[in-house]
Amino acid sequence: MIDYEKLTQTLEKLGYQVSHFSTSKEAANYLDSQIDQTSVAFGGSITMKDMDLYPLLAKHNQVIWHWEGGSQMDAINTQVYITSVNGLAETGELINIDGTGNRVASTLYGHNRVYFVVGSNKIAPDYDAALWRARNIASPKNAQRLGINTPCAAKGDRCYNCQSPDRICRALVVLWEKPKGTEKMEIVLVDEPLGY
Ligand code: SF4
Repeated sequence: MIDYEKLTQTLEKLGYQVSHFSTSKEAANYLDSQIDQTSVAFGGSITMKDMDLYPLLAKHNQVIWHWEGGSQMDAINTQVYITSVNGLAETGELINIDGTGNRVASTLYGHNRVYFVVGSNKIAPDYDAALWRARNIASPKNAQRLGINTPCAAKGDRCYNCQSPDRICRALVVLWEKPKGTEKMEIVLVDEPLGY
């Protein structure tokens, strides 16, 4: 059972703003109300897809998403960046694993506002458990989605710490606190499973 009140307090102490919604639809409507007439980039994220956020925001913003044909280089220069995490520890660490590096880079620096949308399935009790889920649940599922040649994609059961040329786990970024260079970072908690 996730104690959202305690988690919110923990994250606020680390410099993040926090919002909490029962459903992804409510969270999508909230983001739609907050992000208006600006430039937005999306990270590669099944959560964004699950929420159907792209068409919603694209009605009144300039939205760049490489999954919709946008350029990753253009995505670097937007005011707002939205993505998820591979794991969120109830002790406050945000964990992301990346293959190319664009997604994790944008969570560190370069945008005025960053939003992390986090479904309940991403939340783990502590850093070790959040890292474990990022490596053994999120990454193998992403590997399967991409249809790449790695042992985790073949079996889908865990990380094999492969040395494959197709390996998608090339960078691990842990946010201990909100980085100083970004004006605002908000964690949008959603009390339902979203993405991997
Ligand atoms: S390191 Fe290799 S085996 Fe492990 S999750 Fe990443 S791609 Fe799969």
